[in-house]
Amino acid sequence: MKILTLNCGSSSIKYQLFTIADDEEKVLAKGAVERIGMKGAILKHERYDGDKVKVAGEIVDHGAAIEYILAILLSDNHGVIRNREEIEAVGHRVVHGGEVFTGSVAIKPEVMEALNECIELAPLHNPANIKGIVACQRMMKNVPMVGVFDTAFHHTLPDYAYLYGLPFVLYKRYGVRRYGFHGTSHFYVANRASALVGKPLSEMKVVTAHLGNGASMAAVDQGKSIDTTMGMTPLEGLLMGTRTGDIDAGAVLHIIGREELTLGEVNTLLNKHSGLIGLSGVSSDMREIEEEMQAGNDRARLAFDVFCYRVKKYLGAFAAAMGGVDTLVFTGGIGENSDLLRAKVAEGLGFLGIEIDDEKNQVRGGERAIHSDSSKVNVFVIPTNEELVIARETKRVLAES
Ligand code: AMP
Repeated sequence: MKILTLNCGSSSIKYQLFTIADDEEKVLAKGAVERIGMKGAILKHERYDGDKVKVAGEIVDHGAAIEYILAILLSDNHGVIRNREEIEAVGHRVVHGGEVFTGSVAIKPEVMEALNECIELAPLHNPANIKGIVACQRMMKNVPMVGVFDTAFHHTLPDYAYLYGLPFVLYKRYGVRRYGFHGTSHFYVANRASALVGKPLSEMKVVTAHLGNGASMAAVDQGKSIDTTMGMTPLEGLLMGTRTGDIDAGAVLHIIGREELTLGEVNTLLNKHSGLIGLSGVSSDMREIEEEMQAGNDRARLAFDVFCYRVKKYLGAFAAAMGGVDTLVFTGGIGENSDLLRAKVAEGLGFLGIEIDDEKNQVRGGERAIHSDSSKVNVFVIPTNEELVIARETKRVLAES
């Protein structure tokens, strides 16, 4: 079965075309459209055999971007299919599923209504996801679509972990609670860890650390997410490239008062000008932070230290929440690539049974164990693959519906 996965952001769309069968999972082509609706819009496409092409164009909206994607998938020189009908299903990443969507769903008219209701919870993310779905429905009539939610894996959080200490009525009235994000990634790497250990996930206590430009951790106890660092929005928890992560709401009120900020300005401050870039003044990119730190920049060192400390702190918190931890997984651009960060996070965690082997930690690429022989806890680096989860979920949901 050929399945197209789409991850629609406000000005970009990432796509992959898979063949998914019981005995085969293959990426036929992948790519991204960037700068949708702006000058310099571009499609970058790569075929399974390494053929790469960039196409510049006037890509005014998400509909036009999907036309470009379909055209390149069909093109004589760079394509992988002969007609649109070969695409049997489309799997869409949807950021926020609220309390309604606890798993992936086939997209039907009543589902669209519920998706529109979730916009209020994720005004920065869900509208783009919905635009992608609507454009596909228009262009690929009769092709079944499935929505796969970033929040769904965390629907198992107990109430005492998802509630904030606000008047209860605000939860009831506006759905103000922790939902958590990066669910497909936490799900994927936790399951891969189980395969690597050779033990069912239902018998494991795993902490997954998805550390990228956006960063979150999850406590996966016997296969279920029981706590996670992101909250009602992807702003809470760990320090991120440009986001604050945890902050005292009182500090925010103080800043609003002193700087006389509007709602929009405070949003930009917390989401775009904070985190690694805000602390370091150097960059939101961890590679550049590390380079600057090694060149002696003390603010870069500070940003790095705050980032690592929060990961370590939540690791301890999640071990306490689960009554122990037997497996720790690093994923995401930073988690997969920064041996410096992994070493710093694990420093002094021998009391939890976590010991990293310095040499194994420096090996690059692929799935690998980096714990020492005497470590009681398995420590893995596992490249995430959210698109594969979306494609598999799409196949599963359509087979069941
Ligand atoms: P993601 O959002 O998952 O694509 O991750 C992006 C982040 O990964 C950026 O902060 C990058 O600087 C970081 N990253 C990628 N490669 C490395 C590396 N070799 N060392 C440190 N950070 C890296």
